[in-house]
Amino acid sequence: MSLRRFNILIVIALLSMIGLVLMQVFWVQNAIRFKEEQFSKSVSIAMKTVLNRIIETNNNIALESISRRQPCGLEKTNINSIIPPRLLDSLLKSELGCMSISKGFEYAIYNRVNNKMAIGNVENMHASLLESEHQQSVEAVFRPGSYYLTLYFPQQTSVVLKQLLGWMFLSALFLVAVMMSLWLTIRTVLRQKKLSQIKTDFINNMTHELKTPLATIAIASEMLLKQDISLSPDKIKKYISIIYSENQRLQSQVEQVLQSAIIDNGELKLVIKEVDINDLVLQTIETFSIQIKALSGSIIADIKAENANIWADSLHITNVFGNLIDNAIKYSPVRPEITVSTKSDAKGITVLVSDKGIGISKHNQKHIFNNMYRVSTGNVHDVKGFGIGLFYAKKMIEKHGGHLSLYSEPGKGSTFVVFLPYLKHKNEWNE
Ligand code: ADP
Repeated sequence: MSLRRFNILIVIALLSMIGLVLMQVFWVQNAIRFKEEQFSKSVSIAMKTVLNRIIETNNNIALESISRRQPCGLEKTNINSIIPPRLLDSLLKSELGCMSISKGFEYAIYNRVNNKMAIGNVENMHASLLESEHQQSVEAVFRPGSYYLTLYFPQQTSVVLKQLLGWMFLSALFLVAVMMSLWLTIRTVLRQKKLSQIKTDFINNMTHELKTPLATIAIASEMLLKQDISLSPDKIKKYISIIYSENQRLQSQVEQVLQSAIIDNGELKLVIKEVDINDLVLQTIETFSIQIKALSGSIIADIKAENANIWADSLHITNVFGNLIDNAIKYSPVRPEITVSTKSDAKGITVLVSDKGIGISKHNQKHIFNNMYRVSTGNVHDVKGFGIGLFYAKKMIEKHGGHLSLYSEPGKGSTFVVFLPYLKHKNEWNE
């Protein structure tokens, strides 16, 4: 998939996600509004029923008076006697209970003309009761018509929200799950793309690296094969040595690639012997000394490890030191200044390879131990390599029970720290 198409897909997916979130918010708001309306309707029905019950009660009392032949004697003019507070209280409780509204409520009957409470005296709720949306005229029960029954539910919002909480939680959960999956998919695709780019770079790089020695060998052997040119023994020796050294280079390159593949497959078998790390360090330094001298650089050995004997595979450990010193040379643009030091403590041996080269940024420090990873900025492209040296080194040190770490500052240099633990005996190897 082309990058443009992938970007368009990501934008579409993100816009759809935003649309989905907005729709969810809209539906939740609608659901809250619907629940609130439902609540108001239930309260209104309950209030009407309560007032009807009170009318019925009053009618019964009036009929009773008539039957006792006292039609005018008991004329009631006080609201408290027409709407007895205790009756109102219990009727409200039972009717609201029937509507499944069992949470606390406050009520009052007040006169709208002067906002005075006729029944119910809830001082701290006065304002809330007057402003409440649940109000019903009691004109049918008591005149004048300015008296209103009002109900206030302090926990109305939380009651409505509680009813929707389960749904809201579920919808948020699904939304988060969809977002996470989208994010993971995008991340995986980006990683895959990066990996495929790294592999392509590696193949291009390797083809180029293998072509150079092959071309040199071809030219040198052509010269040797040309019968019409008579070559002096010196020239013949020179061409043969070119072929030999290019062949060696090819072999070591192929070896590197093979080793990284073997490590990746986990098929590597180590040959464990007792080795002196100080000796290995000194031998490796020796192999690079001519190259460093040719670059007018310096390499200092600071050997301080007292007990340098461990059980290890000397070939691979030498390769690791070789890779680190080779990098220190490669990534020092002018005269390489390298220090290799060893020290030991109760747990094991530490070998530090320091240079004053280009250094490595914090971001790249996280990746350079990955297989085939090469820093892709600055002038690093000019430096030959496959990006497998540090991967190999780290894996190898870890196979020996140790660890490889790095301290580096761009422009100032890098220090690679190899730690190898003491293992008392070969038997402690649990390969
Ligand atoms: P290669 O050197 O073949 O590219 P490595 O695995 O040895 O592969 O190193 C990976 C990357 O780490 C290199 O491409 C380089 O950018 C960076 N690097 C390694 N060693 C050093 C160093 N001493 N100084 C600066 N950068 C380094």
